[in-house]
Amino acid sequence: MEKYENLGLVGEGSYGMVMKCRNRETGKIVAVKKFLESEDDKSVKKIALREIKMLKQLRHENLVSLLEVCKRRRRWYLVFEFVDRNLLDELEFHSSGLEKSRCRAYLYQILRALSYCHQHNIIHRDVKPENVLVSQQGVVKLCDFGFARTLALPGEAYTDYVATRWYRAPELLVGDPKYGKAVDIWAVGCLFMEMLSGEPLFPGDSDIDQLYHIIRCIGSLTPRHQEMFYRNPLFSGVSLPENLHSNTHTLNMRFPTLTQSAASFAKCQECLQIDPDNRPCCVDLQQHEYFTKDGFNVSQVSSGPKLQRGREGEP
Ligand code: ADP
Repeated sequence: MEKYENLGLVGEGSYGMVMKCRNRETGKIVAVKKFLESEDDKSVKKIALREIKMLKQLRHENLVSLLEVCKRRRRWYLVFEFVDRNLLDELEFHSSGLEKSRCRAYLYQILRALSYCHQHNIIHRDVKPENVLVSQQGVVKLCDFGFARTLALPGEAYTDYVATRWYRAPELLVGDPKYGKAVDIWAVGCLFMEMLSGEPLFPGDSDIDQLYHIIRCIGSLTPRHQEMFYRNPLFSGVSLPENLHSNTHTLNMRFPTLTQSAASFAKCQECLQIDPDNRPCCVDLQQHEYFTKDGFNVSQVSSGPKLQRGREGEP
């Protein structure tokens, strides 16, 4: 790692930190993710190895590129292409939401990234503004595959995972062991609404508060998920809100001006179906009129090779 000069911290997570660095020989600017010491902490080791495994399989223009992996003095280091900013930075600058055209372009690229992951049976599981990097040319690069994992086989349950609460789907909150790709679609719905409005959609301050935010706005959980909620010891003694008629706070009521731009709004509602089985897949969403009506999706395809050229120098 001596070949990299540290230029400063760009991000910090639960398992390590990300630094902007310069390669002393080539001058190339990279992002180096330095994990906490992994020998004594099994969860750090697991997260690091999982991220490495995922990123080695996944190569796409809308996913951050892994350039190098190394281990020094009991720590794992991942070297990535450096990407200038993330969506959280952009949202901080645009507190009443991003321009409509930008929301559409970002959403399309996020869907393209996830569609690629889902085709490889990988669920990202932590889609949120900090993990959507954006280059100076406006190219989206999804990052942080520390929580990503391959789809469980039938009968196999997922364990050990806590995604960022505000973007967590209802099935994750109640502890459904059989969740799937639809958890990423839910997160996309929350993220898209946040891009349009500038406000986080469901800013819960605990798991139960998160469920209340969702139910108030979207409606009751499916009977299966209600049952899981009442069986989950984490929620023992707590009730789900029942009479929704008096206090529903629907998306239309919350965002009356957005409702007028019907196409984009409809996209959010589709992603935010309470029943994961009713949420569309990435490919269906990409083919929606919102992207096809003025040939936008075609213009995105034709820009592909141009963007791909930036990937020279990868291993
Ligand atoms: P953690 O798993 O520890 O949360 P992440 O991979 O999410 O680490 O990275 C933490 C933050 O660092 C990200 O949210 C992002 O803002 C920044 N970051 C990550 N990768 C890059 C990169 N390649 N270029 C620039 N910034 C990055």
